[in-house]
Amino acid sequence: MSLRHGFKKEAREITLEVREELGVDVFAPLDPYALAELYGIEITDLSNPCLPPESVRHFTEERPHVFSGALVPLQPSGALIIENHVHHPRRRRSTIAHEMAHVLLEHPFGLTLTGEDGCRPAAAEIEREATELSGELLIPTDAARLAAFRGWSDRCVADHFRVSVPMARWRMNATGARKIAARSSNKRVREHAASA
Ligand SMILES: [Zn+2]
Repeated sequence: MSLRHGFKKEAREITLEVREELGVDVFAPLDPYALAELYGIEITDLSNPCLPPESVRHFTEERPHVFSGALVPLQPSGALIIENHVHHPRRRRSTIAHEMAHVLLEHPFGLTLTGEDGCRPAAAEIEREATELSGELLIPTDAARLAAFRGWSDRCVADHFRVSVPMARWRMNATGARKIAARSSNKRVREHAASA
């Protein structure tokens, strides 16, 4: 299943607005923690003493890969992000960006959690939206295209935007950045050959 029609464009527009609010250029790395602060979303991690120690041990020592983060509603309004602090800082940046995407898209709480009946279609769709928007926030489409024109490797893109290499690779492919850069360089070669 793919994203609903027009969503990618919407994600690009939200990203431009958010980056402007943060004063971050389209080609600069975005700090998801600053984004959370801007929207008044508090962040805590699994070292929080209010959390049950057995669950914390499970998610930090026994099976740390199964929990990245969660968005928890606060009464009467607002929300809190709980992140897994034992993960690599780059993965944590993606986690916070993902949870903030749910906030920016005003996704309803609860749907983001897998229910007893398994992963519901509604939940799957909002997860795809959050994943797309968080990718766009961290590496905007225009930034990916510029990086491709400059001939940057996936590793170079990852280091610049402070994300994992698989995330950089996904963005460079999903945005069509590599294909567009390759087409345009082929065109330049052809034009050069024609004018020679
Ligand atoms: Zn999610």
